Amino acid sequence: MKPVTIEDNLKSATQQLREANSDSPCIDASVLLCHALDKPRSYLLTWPEKTLTQEEQDKFSRAMELRLAGQPIAYITGEREFWSLPLEVSKSTLIPRPDTERLVEVSLDLLSNYNGSVLDLGTGTGAIALAIASERPDLNVLGVDMQPEAASLATRNAQKLTIHNATFLCGSWFEPIVQSEHKTFALIVSNPPYIDEKDPHLQQGDVRFEPSSALVAGENGLADIRYIASQAKAYLQPEGWIAFEHGYDQGEAVRQLLLQFGYQDVKTEKDYAGNDRVSIGQKPLE
Ligand code: GLN
Repeated sequence: MKPVTIEDNLKSATQQLREANSDSPCIDASVLLCHALDKPRSYLLTWPEKTLTQEEQDKFSRAMELRLAGQPIAYITGEREFWSLPLEVSKSTLIPRPDTERLVEVSLDLLSNYNGSVLDLGTGTGAIALAIASERPDLNVLGVDMQPEAASLATRNAQKLTIHNATFLCGSWFEPIVQSEHKTFALIVSNPPYIDEKDPHLQQGDVRFEPSSALVAGENGLADIRYIASQAKAYLQPEGWIAFEHGYDQGEAVRQLLLQFGYQDVKTEKDYAGNDRVSIGQKPLE
């Protein structure tokens, strides 16, 4: 077969992705080609006339097949950037979302007057824990995930990024804390599953390929938030904070839960699109 150039590959891949109704055919084609060539985006622009080796061409074709079958880009490349940290991702974890960076911003604000440890429940790739740990090298962050693959993936991400103040344990919510050096935390943060199982958006786009254990919760998506809120006070230092990510229409319900379990200064923050996304509450002094 005649070798094909970078430019021609980009053109035909963009066209195929456009026909398959991709939202961002041009970006998807470039990201997958960079992955096949193991080169940055600038390389594609600098060397449009370069031809691919057979090995590169095969790798690109395989990546395109997966994308055309609907696979999320991050699962194909095995990587997603979050808070400017390149993170390894796998099918056992949710793909970190830009909106979750809002949870990190809110967490860092809450921590600005605090010393003490941070607990990230349902850490997945370790995105939230690692972002906080990278901004606050003076604090220790513990990330917990019930999936052993996620806990080891998050540990690998910490090692690759040489972030030394984040550790990860496997277990259900608060269970692994006894194995750690921690007793109480200044902040408990979580992006738990919060989607209702009947939500039609679970059948669309990239989420179809993500683990439902990371997406779906009972009680219209509120079961895990309720459980965490009900237990967290026992693990918070006095005046410590809890912060959740939740669905755009769950702000009111999450505030009610936090008030019901005795947290104070309860409020909801918006995401970058102006939707309710993060709710917080403080454990009272006594
Ligand atoms: N925000 C994600 C979505 O709507 C869900 C994340 C979660 O359930 N924690 O796809």
